[in-house]
Amino acid sequence: MQLYPLFADLTDRSVLVVGGGDVADRKVAMLLRAGARVTVGAPMLGPELREKLQHGRITYRPGAYQSEWLDNVWLVIAATRSRPLNARIAADGHAQQRLVNVVDDPSLSSFQVPALIDRSPLLVAISTGGVAPVLARRLRERIESLLDPTIGSLLQLAQRYRARIRQRYADLAARRRFYDWLHDGPVNALIRAADPVRAERQLRAALSSAIEPTSKGSVVLVGAGPGDPGLLTLRALRALNEADVILHDELIGPQILDLARRDALQIAVGKRGGGTHTPQETIHALLLQHVQAGHRVIRLKGGDPFVFGRGGEELAFLRKHGIAYEVVPGITAAAACAAYSGVPLTHRDHAQSVRFVTAHCQQSLDTLDWRDLARERQTLAIYMGVSQLDELTRQLLAHGCAPNTAFALIENGSLPNQRTLTGALHDLPALAKRHAIRAPAIVILGEVATLADASHWYGELIGNPPHHPAIPRNLADAA
Ligand code: SAH
Repeated sequence: MQLYPLFADLTDRSVLVVGGGDVADRKVAMLLRAGARVTVGAPMLGPELREKLQHGRITYRPGAYQSEWLDNVWLVIAATRSRPLNARIAADGHAQQRLVNVVDDPSLSSFQVPALIDRSPLLVAISTGGVAPVLARRLRERIESLLDPTIGSLLQLAQRYRARIRQRYADLAARRRFYDWLHDGPVNALIRAADPVRAERQLRAALSSAIEPTSKGSVVLVGAGPGDPGLLTLRALRALNEADVILHDELIGPQILDLARRDALQIAVGKRGGGTHTPQETIHALLLQHVQAGHRVIRLKGGDPFVFGRGGEELAFLRKHGIAYEVVPGITAAAACAAYSGVPLTHRDHAQSVRFVTAHCQQSLDTLDWRDLARERQTLAIYMGVSQLDELTRQLLAHGCAPNTAFALIENGSLPNQRTLTGALHDLPALAKRHAIRAPAIVILGEVATLADASHWYGELIGNPPHHPAIPRNLADAA
């Protein structure tokens, strides 16, 4: 081991930072967070350090460095621009047996400052001994994304009740089970749901109850976005990491499922490629079964769970059975496909509103207000079954939609095999047939769709500009 890992308690201990610039300021800020008494020595202070001085948060030693500055300090950080000066400070410090860090110079330092993930009281520190700072940074990003920001609040709560938990659960194994419950159960769920008061009440109730609390199962309804794993939210990623059971839509790709815990049970439900469905009742029954077994269940859906996802029905079911749940939004297909084809869904001059419409089957087509949909100056994002294109186009034209209204039809949006087909509405069914467009695909209809030809940046573009009305100048410029 090249370095001995060490977490130092610097509360009210004197430390010295030499240097008055930005780098010194960053070091000072960190030391102040740890409660250290900081003295800064430098001929001049930059604006941030001057402000800290004015607020009485630091002590200042003006002028050129002198070795007496090292008297009575626990550690010293050299953050001057001059390497010889940094070396002199380091040599003086080593001679006086101070812990010394020279910024960005491990060879002169006797301690190094690690990459840090701060969820106080939890701290995760990463060191590569100065060998691989890039790796340290990447690891830090990964761990940051895995630890919910609220974990610190849970730990602070647990800290306040530590003695009482110890008293109530003298037996170590029982205490461990209690802490597991604290992390996996309702207390943490309430903290994540921004309700610390009820979280504490739950904790107290559990401590004063005669029976040991057991983890009941819970459900997180998670939107997985349109397909690109990069479009998962951090919260969705954390849920994937925590789940025991994943009930996922058939369309969720392997790249996303690969991010789940290796030992999680994965069950495909919902729509199959061919269009057969797992009945909603079967999904409900599976949810219930696994929750009652005490599992943490994710219901993973494409896009956003509340946009044509029957998420509302699933929540109603969970509520009815008194099952705890959270909902994590996802990027809906309309937003993702618009972004990945360069089409802004709204535009100051050309579309004041955007409407998400479903046209999956005859039944959904029958209930649409076609006259309203055929209006100008709006964008339609039509979630649809590809087989409905004929009927969709016929109805829109019949209710007054201009035949040359621009469309962009995006297939497999955000995935490597994305294709964007553009053209005019009257040609839509024929073009889709000619290019064998398959589900999943979405139509973006309206003047903004003309922009795809110019602004498209991802996957293949199959443009049909001859059918387009001329792109209005200001619209093209805005892109
Ligand atoms: N809850 C989902 C929508 C479910 S309905 C969401 O918010 O996106 C399914 C429809 O969404 C598909 O028929 C298709 O019209 C659209 N869709 C989903 N993923 C898509 C993708 N990657 N590319 C294009 N359309 C997509």
